[in-house]
Parts: sequence; C-alpha cells; structure tokens
Amino acid sequence: MRRTPPLIVGAGPAGCAAAIVLARAGLRPVIVDRDAEIPDRLCGGFLSWRTAEQMQELGLDLRDLAAAPVQRLKLISVHHTLDAWLPAPGYAVSRRTLDRALREEAIAAGARLEIDTIRGIDSGAAVGKRRTWTGDGVFLATGKHDVRGLGRPRRSRDPALGLRLRLPNDASRSATLAGVIELHLFERSYAGVVLQEDGSANVCLAVRKSRLASCGGDPRRLLVSLRDDHPLFGNRLGTAWNAARTETIGAVPYGWLAQRTAPGLFRLGDQAAVIPSLAGEGLSIALASGVLAAQVWLEHGADGAATFQRRIAAAASPALRVAAAARMIAERPLTARLSMKLAERVPAALNWLMGASRVAPASLAPRSLAA
Ligand SMILES: Cc1cc2nc3c(=O)[nH]c(=O)nc-3n(C[C@H](O)[C@H](O)[C@H](O)COP(=O)(O)OP(=O)(O)OC[C@H]3O[C@@H](n4cnc5c(N)ncnc54)[C@H](O)[C@@H]3O)c2cc1C
Repeated sequence: MRRTPPLIVGAGPAGCAAAIVLARAGLRPVIVDRDAEIPDRLCGGFLSWRTAEQMQELGLDLRDLAAAPVQRLKLISVHHTLDAWLPAPGYAVSRRTLDRALREEAIAAGARLEIDTIRGIDSGAAVGKRRTWTGDGVFLATGKHDVRGLGRPRRSRDPALGLRLRLPNDASRSATLAGVIELHLFERSYAGVVLQEDGSANVCLAVRKSRLASCGGDPRRLLVSLRDDHPLFGNRLGTAWNAARTETIGAVPYGWLAQRTAPGLFRLGDQAAVIPSLAGEGLSIALASGVLAAQVWLEHGADGAATFQRRIAAAASPALRVAAAARMIAERPLTARLSMKLAERVPAALNWLMGASRVAPASLAPRSLAA
C-alpha cells in the first residue's frame, strides 16, 4: 500500500529538495506554494561550491542553467582590497532560474504543486486561504515568511534588512566582475556584488536598521552615501543605478536556529536556521535540510520530526556561529581593517573561515541519523 506523504509548504529550495527525494522514493508529495509565478527572490545570487555539489546530487547541473562559475572572492573596504581563491568554484545564478529548475525537477520526479497561501498550522494540518491541506506530517519550508503561531522571534535590537538592486548588463562592469564574488564591507552593513546568468549585476545588501535610519529610512539615500564614501562600490553602481528598482525585506532573523519542534512538524530551510548572508550558505542549508527531512521521514515517518530538527540544528550550528562572528567583524570598520590585514599576511585564515562557515557534509551523513 502506498504511504501518505508529508505535506510540503513552500516550493523554494528547501521544499523542492525534500519533494525530489520523497518523489524518487516512490511517493507523490504535494507542495503548496502561494506563488504560481516564480519571482526573482531577493538574494545574493551566489551559490557556494557546497551548494553546487548538492544540486548535482539532486540531479541538477548548474552549467545547464547558464550559471557562471565564480572562482574568486574579493573583500573590499575603504582602505583595502583582498583577493582570494575560493576553496572550489562556486556559481552565480538568479533565484528565478534556480527556483524554476528545482520546481521543475520536483514535478518531473512525481511531486504535485498546488497554489494556496498557508495562514497557519493547526492540529497537524495546513490552513490555507483556499482550503485545509493534510499529510502524514508537515514540512514547513516558507523561508523568510512565518506562518501564524510559528513565528521566529526577532531578538536583535538592531536587526538587518535585505536590500537589492539589479543593474543592467554593462561591458566594463562585466569585465571587472567576471569569475568574482565581491563583498563590500561598510559600517553596520555589507554588500555582495556578482554577475547573474543574463549578464546583469546583482547588488544585495544586508543593512542594520540603525544604518538605514541614519539615512532617513530611505534606501536610495543610503546607496548615495555608500557610493560617496566607498569609491569602488560607487564604481560598481556606475551611473545608471538610479533607474534600477530597489527591493527590500525587513528584519531578517540572522542566527535563528530551531532546536525543537511540534510533533509531526519538520522546519526546513530558513525556518530551521538563518545564517548571516555574507557566508553565502543559506541555499546550502535549505537544500541539506530538505534532503535530510525527507530521509528522516522515509525512515521514521512523521514521528521523526524531533530527531530531524535536532540533527539539522547540530549540523548547522557551527557554521552559524562562525558566520555570526565574521559578520560582527565585517560590520565594524576597525575590526574589518585589522582582519583584512591579518588575512593578507596569513591567507590560510580566510580559507579556514570560508570552510568553517559551511555545513560539513559528514554531519548530514545518513549513518548519523541513528542517534
Ligand atoms: C540579503 C540576503 C542575501 C542572501 N544571499 C544569499 C546568497 O548569495 N547565497 C545563499 O546561499 N543564500 C543567500 N541568502 C539566503 C537564502 O536566500 C535563503 O537561505 C534561502 O532562500 C532559503 O530557502 P527556503 O527554501 O528556506 O526559503 P525561500 O527561498 O524563501 O522559499 C520559500 C517558499 O515558500 C513560499 N511561501 C512563503 N510563505 C508561504 C505561505 N504562507 N504559503 C505558501 N507558500 C509560502 C514562497 O513563495 C517560496 O516559494 C540570502 C539571504 C538574504 C536575506
């Protein structure tokens, strides 16, 4: 007799990874997402070498998505630029392209996509605008968006906001950014700049609320002040940036880690752990948690929720701690400057940091599920 699969809420990377594994095990999972059209979600658009491996394991080759390889990291502050090789090539690709590929793969494997906005989880069922959805357990993979009663507490007195603009293809900017992810460090903020598969440049900032408030809460005034104070960032923005649309998301709960969960509820992706975005590891955690949740469910059914949550928390927490420390250093001009000088003298320090802010594959190995 065919088993009833868990219900998956959210067709982002975490939900789709879970759906692919469940569907390949012969189940027909239902994924409920609020968006019929896949938007280009606010994101840095960088996939680490680990994320690339995980995509490969799910049967998706990033080169088929025209994703550009990224071999080098440039750390840029007012006084310094540090150029380092990544431990292995990462990739740059827009979220629209990435999310579409994952959705299509999940559906091709046998998952069914339904469109509804889930408002809350009640007695193990997902209550949507259209109807109530059930399964043998619920995989909550709504990413940045919390559902009623399951909000992630915002503990920071000065939370971060996400701010993104997409700059059109420009030959000189493309030449500068080819094969590179740039991380520009500012006081109480940083920006990732990377080319996307269509040649546009994705400029994505994490900004402390207080920093934005110092510019009257106006993202454009903030960008003008960063451009004026940081010449290389100004150079990347170029002259046409004012015509680009700015997108924002509020209060990102960096550092959130779900240690416990309710019976039958598996929290995946950003609902499980939120790593500071300068690590470029959020997508990797999303995919890893989706795969692990499906594996635990296949072994233990919905009763495995607590085991899964403990396992993913234990696997993600070392990387979260390292990334939180890196963020603290990066957002203070003095510590950023000292650390960049140190990394110049001891390149192994930066290499260590890039490795230590990843989720170790060994911590997710199937044999560790037994405990
Ligand atoms: C500023 C910033 C920059 C970042 N840059 C990077 C980067 O460069 N590289 C990297 O690896 N990570 C990056 N991240 C992290 C990364 O974006 C997330 O970790 C990742 O998107 C989490 O995937 P997810 O599947 O959990 O959630 P999401 O990608 O947010 O997907 C959630 C899905 O759930 C759906 N949904 C939401 N609410 C509901 C609802 N109520 N009902 C039904 N469906 C719903 C959405 O439509 C969506 O499809 C960044 C994060 C931020 C904030």
